[in-house]
Amino acid sequence: MKSNPPLVPLGTLLGRELRTEKAEKPTIKYGQAALAKKGEDYFLIKPDCQRIPSNPSTPFSVFAIFDGHNGISAAIFAKENLLNNVLSAIPQGIGREEWLQALPRALVAGFVKTDIEFQQKGETSGTTVTFVVIDGWTVTVASVGDSRCILDTQGGVVSLLTIDHRLEDNAEERERVTASGGEVGRLNVFGGNEVGPLRCWPGGLCLSRSIGDTDVGEFIVPIPHVKQVKLSNAGGRLIIASDGIWDALSSDMAAQSCRGLPAEIAAKLVVKEALRSRGLKDDTTCLVVDIIPFDQPILPPTPRKKQNLLSSFIFGKRFQTSVNKAMKLSAVGVVEELFEEGSAMLTERNENLLEVEMENEEEMWRADMYTSQLGKNCPLNSNSGLLRCAICQADQTPSDGLSVNSGPYFSPASKPWEGPFLCTNCRKKKDAMEGKRAIRPTVTA
Ligand SMILES: [Zn+2]
Repeated sequence: MKSNPPLVPLGTLLGRELRTEKAEKPTIKYGQAALAKKGEDYFLIKPDCQRIPSNPSTPFSVFAIFDGHNGISAAIFAKENLLNNVLSAIPQGIGREEWLQALPRALVAGFVKTDIEFQQKGETSGTTVTFVVIDGWTVTVASVGDSRCILDTQGGVVSLLTIDHRLEDNAEERERVTASGGEVGRLNVFGGNEVGPLRCWPGGLCLSRSIGDTDVGEFIVPIPHVKQVKLSNAGGRLIIASDGIWDALSSDMAAQSCRGLPAEIAAKLVVKEALRSRGLKDDTTCLVVDIIPFDQPILPPTPRKKQNLLSSFIFGKRFQTSVNKAMKLSAVGVVEELFEEGSAMLTERNENLLEVEMENEEEMWRADMYTSQLGKNCPLNSNSGLLRCAICQADQTPSDGLSVNSGPYFSPASKPWEGPFLCTNCRKKKDAMEGKRAIRPTVTA
């Protein structure tokens, strides 16, 4: 049977459009609570950011926790600089969907850039970072260290959006650190007894990734685990907290301790619950962020129901491009997994960083990323033939003799990295993080 659909009045269409737009924009409610023991926890709450400066219809929010160690300067530095460094790695003038696609790689670049800048200050402290960007129903989390972010969704399913970069718990990271020249072992007390968690030496850090820790060794890398998910429009609750919470409470316990309560009260309850079970042993900081359908005052309490694994397949794959090979649908209910990548090797994050470089390669950018979604007229930020470092965003002219794959110039001894353009400084950092000797240029311009 074939017939034309009935005509719909324009007013009805506009009304639908408006409702869809509203439904697409959840309300964000948040609360924060903390108790200090050492005073090394910092947090960042920026609910009113804009993708396009001074355009209020392009909002996004940022929530972050920085748990410092061996001092507070790295935590403060990251708090003050990381957001700008991430944003500066996103091409200008792109639409929302492209912005969200560019975000994971911009987070990697921003973390590395912040680490390099902090190193240049010559200070020795370090910090974990759990950095959450919320745009509509899409949540993107980048983290180094062990400050977790969990997601409590409708149906009572709790999932972890971060990976703990703790040597004690993470065999893959132990192998990486060892392969890059670090030693992993416990503290030796007199008598030869080993005590405490696994640490890496020199330095004795329990974490395998952080920003800062200049004195510990380059194998403690600032390359974040990044995960991007899209919530259903039923919404969800994020609990972002330092290890003072997670050493006391499991993800489920934290989520359950505050369900059905407004975010401000929830954050206080989670801290209280952690103290009740463990006492104040460490800095304890908690952010609770509710992503709520626009017409609901609070996140409705969610009765635990049988998890329907099939429900995760009700959403289509929206961002299926060559960029998101790691993308898979989640098995945790109505959450769509858009992106996840946790490798500590920039070489393996190459694909992500590559997109930043694509600014200079208009044709590839279009072909790879946008043909299917935007056609050929996507706005680009080409910059007059300059090569831009994928990490620090510094522009350099090709005539400086620096190019993407100038292997013999950069790495006389090893295989050239066939990745995006990196300036000399960032390339040194990359090689050092992979346990390679810092490379001295043999030619000067
Ligand atoms: Zn650079």
